[in-house]
Amino acid sequence: MAAGKESKKAGAARSAAEVELPGVEQARAALSSALSSELERPRSLLYAMLEHPPQLLHLEGGDVSSRVSLALWWAALLNCEGPEPRPCLECPACLRTGALMHPDLFLLDGRVSSIKIDDVRALRPVLGEHPRFGRRRVVVLAEAQALGVEAANSLLKVLEDPCPDTCFVFTAPQRERLLPTLVSRGWVITLPWPQPGGAPSGELGLWDQALARFAVEGRGWFDLSQLRNGLDAAKAQQVVLAGRKALADRLAGREGGALAAVFRPLPEAWLLELDELFSETEDALQAQVNPLLALDAMACGVHDVVRRTSSKP
Ligand SMILES: [Zn+2]
Repeated sequence: MAAGKESKKAGAARSAAEVELPGVEQARAALSSALSSELERPRSLLYAMLEHPPQLLHLEGGDVSSRVSLALWWAALLNCEGPEPRPCLECPACLRTGALMHPDLFLLDGRVSSIKIDDVRALRPVLGEHPRFGRRRVVVLAEAQALGVEAANSLLKVLEDPCPDTCFVFTAPQRERLLPTLVSRGWVITLPWPQPGGAPSGELGLWDQALARFAVEGRGWFDLSQLRNGLDAAKAQQVVLAGRKALADRLAGREGGALAAVFRPLPEAWLLELDELFSETEDALQAQVNPLLALDAMACGVHDVVRRTSSKP
């Protein structure tokens, strides 16, 4: 490394960084899901990779907030300048990472909308350079299942080019949601499903109850889905997640919410059908099918499977 040149550049960036450092609270909030005791094992795997971080890392499983938070935690770990244990969540690099203001952190956010080829193209010139501020440049693709086909292919090309000191992190519910060629290029870490300790709360809880009611009674869903006229694909993914979470609770024998209770008497083969149904819905959402139509079809599919149980002799 051209040490003199690099340290001069880093020095300039550092003084700029000190001007407006985000607060500790902001960084802690962004990384708090990653600090949960359930993620101890994934964190220790990441520590073990620190000396030789993979070019591409996949984080699957868990829920969306733990996946994305852990991706940012990894970015903080790679660039932390503070004392052990790292990431310290107090040094400028950690604070800026948590606040998404680190100059070497790039976030393509599939939670908001699909990730387009232009987003990937915009990155390419930057990736040929060394990181400006930290030891590593970190490119996070949050919910990479939202990658369009063209964007995914463009990323594959990016990964073939030299990207000095750059680490990519993709988050996705399951590796099967990504192009196999992307998955095979990277390491995969699977996060445990969150222990729900009862029914899911907030928006997820609302969908959980609505799906459970519709699954049993065949009504109540359409009223609710019509109330959600502003529903976009990202929000609709949350509804599918409510279904997936209930399924995971059922399979793990955990208590879960109302929908998990509806799934309890179903034989395993039918649970696989539900799993397939959720995957199809996710695919439809990605293919930009109207989210309400996709969810209504999913709710009807769940109802069909559940009704089969109650009509069993
Ligand atoms: Zn730090």
